[in-house]
Amino acid sequence: KAKELGKNNFQVYTSSMNAQTFKIFSLESNLRNAIDLNQLELYYQPKVCPNTYDIIGAEALIRWNHPEWGLVLPDEFISLAEETGLDIELGSWVKRTACIQNKLWQDANLPKIPVSINLSANRFLEHSLLINTVETLKETKLEPKYLEVEITETSLLENEKIVFSVLGGLKELGIKVALDDFGTGYSSLSSLKRFKGLIDILKIDRTFIKDLSEIETDDSNFITNMIIQLSQQLKMEVVAEGVETSEQLQVLRNYNCNTIQGYLFSKPVSTADFEKLLRKGKIMPLESNTEDEDFI
Ligand code: C2E
Ligand code: MG
Ligand code: MG
Ligand code: MG
Repeated sequence: KAKELGKNNFQVYTSSMNAQTFKIFSLESNLRNAIDLNQLELYYQPKVCPNTYDIIGAEALIRWNHPEWGLVLPDEFISLAEETGLDIELGSWVKRTACIQNKLWQDANLPKIPVSINLSANRFLEHSLLINTVETLKETKLEPKYLEVEITETSLLENEKIVFSVLGGLKELGIKVALDDFGTGYSSLSSLKRFKGLIDILKIDRTFIKDLSEIETDDSNFITNMIIQLSQQLKMEVVAEGVETSEQLQVLRNYNCNTIQGYLFSKPVSTADFEKLLRKGKIMPLESNTEDEDFI
């Protein structure tokens, strides 16, 4: 059974190795082979205009289909990939796959939309990111404006010189940078000041969105409204993450939020399923037919 799991999976389970260590060990050796064995897949989640319901973008999210464990979500293996250096290969694979796919959609005459990829902090902080990205765009013939990168605030806390040069490089290339999970970091506001003009999009974290209410009694309402106004003042786009209800959507519409992402419109879906959505171009909120919104 051990051999079936992959060539690097030495099952040296000694008494000094506890079950947790073994699990990580086995996860790592399996992940090492995941790319070669074609077990990785990108799912895409639409980003939607709250007024027209047009699909105006997508986020690529990695999935790992393990033959025994089933679908493994990124939260279970991304940090391990970062610790073991596997994220180098994984990150290149994600970028290349997303660019190839987006170009295929464009060549099939589907609406042209930017697709964003998530960058881990380690990968973001390397000059090779820029070279590597230029090569990928060239190879895939995707225009830079159709690739976006999502980074977290922690990426910005590292070596300031490198951060500036990478952000500047991406700007020169014409690739937009989004600040993911915005509002949850240590220095959300000071990041905006320090990196003014280098960050194009704020993605309001789901923790603020989930408590939005139409009677506006929750602090999340004020914080969300403030982030949206801030983004407008600073000439940035703003995306609300994790929108699940039509009430949240209505509140965000009232606050003039540009872009909505969340289960209310669609979960992240496979390439084939996303293509079907993109073919329609628009996507309706899932609740609107089932909930009696006008009935108070
Ligand atoms: P993220 O970039 O903040 O992505 C948003 C996460 O929220 C995704 O989880 C998405 O499926 C989930 N989500 C979207 N809408 C809703 C909603 O309405 N309700 C709820 N409850 N959840 C929603 P996922 O795909 O499991 O990814 C988790 C995290 O893993 C991502 O957070 C990102 O930080 C990381 N990740 C995903 N793909 C990659 C990748 O290719 N590379 C790297 N470095 N990190 C990745
Ligand atoms: Mg993201
Ligand atoms: Mg996020
Ligand atoms: Mg996140």
